[in-house]
Amino acid sequence: MIDIEAKPGLDGDVYRTLLESTRAIPWKIDWNTMTFAYIGPQIEALLGWTPESWASVQDWIDRMHPEDRAWVVDFCVAQSKDGIDHEADYRALCKNGEYVWIRDVVHVVRDADGAVEALVGFMFDISERKRTEERLLNLQRELERLSFKDGLTGVGNRRCFDKVLRNEWNCAQRSRQPLSLVLLDIDYFKQYNDHYGHIQGDNCLKRVGALLDSVASRPRDFLARYGGEEFVLVLPETDAQSACRLAERCRELIEQSRMPHEKSKAAPVLTVSLGVGAVVPDMASEPLSLIDAVDRALYQAKTQGRNRVAMAEPS
Ligand code: GH3
Ligand code: MG
Ligand code: MG
Repeated sequence: MIDIEAKPGLDGDVYRTLLESTRAIPWKIDWNTMTFAYIGPQIEALLGWTPESWASVQDWIDRMHPEDRAWVVDFCVAQSKDGIDHEADYRALCKNGEYVWIRDVVHVVRDADGAVEALVGFMFDISERKRTEERLLNLQRELERLSFKDGLTGVGNRRCFDKVLRNEWNCAQRSRQPLSLVLLDIDYFKQYNDHYGHIQGDNCLKRVGALLDSVASRPRDFLARYGGEEFVLVLPETDAQSACRLAERCRELIEQSRMPHEKSKAAPVLTVSLGVGAVVPDMASEPLSLIDAVDRALYQAKTQGRNRVAMAEPS
């Protein structure tokens, strides 16, 4: 049993009552025999194992989640040998097979010569804190995911596009591989909205987003909503010819989906115009130069009659 030295006004019984009525669970391990000299009775309420069942350090190790075991044991043994107070969070096994998150706070007791004599500490039940941490982490991941997504169509948003393009640009600069962009704009969309209403307009944008998403098939191909009724495809390791073929496929797919557009001057159905550009970026060039060239190509596709693909001039 733990040795509790009487202090004036605070005798051993008071100490024991204090120790055994707190939510923190006190314990003591004898370093030489690697056995428990004491563990608070509260342990049984928390984990289901009786205080008597905590005999050796091995019991503590065996009642630890297998994923936590190796690093916790290595860490605690190393710190203890060096005489350093420490703490560790791990999952402790309950008698019913469930796990409880524990924070073990450990103080190393040394004898007059400085040799490690015992370890004393408290176990705290931190499962509620861990659950809160987990919830916050999931929330943070979800927020991050949402912050890169276009709210209406579910494809990447402008912010995400800027980031992806910057990354792919850097990659292409290093690998000397071509990088292509396809910029796509719905034809006569103002008239579509005016005629069919804004809600139908929104539905149309969702449909176009989904159709385009099905075209970009390689793992690094990336689709974003660039602005109102404009979408953009980033196509790494894709040359001008392949990008042009893909743009043509996008154009066909949308035309062939036959969404009625009575007010379009290009066709009786919804159509899109596309600008395409490809570049092997040198170290001095910036993504904006490609966007600019592709934007000019898109303008050309519009002025040449819409529902078509136009290539950017090679720079
Ligand atoms: P063009 O063929 O030259 O591209 O003509 P356009 O009418 O498509 O182009 P314009 O830029 O004049 O109009 C774009 C329209 O897109 C205007 C705007 O009302 C509509 N739009 C932009 N964002 C949204 C949106 O989120 N939902 C809906 N329903 N409409 C949008
Ligand atoms: Mg537009
Ligand atoms: Mg338009």
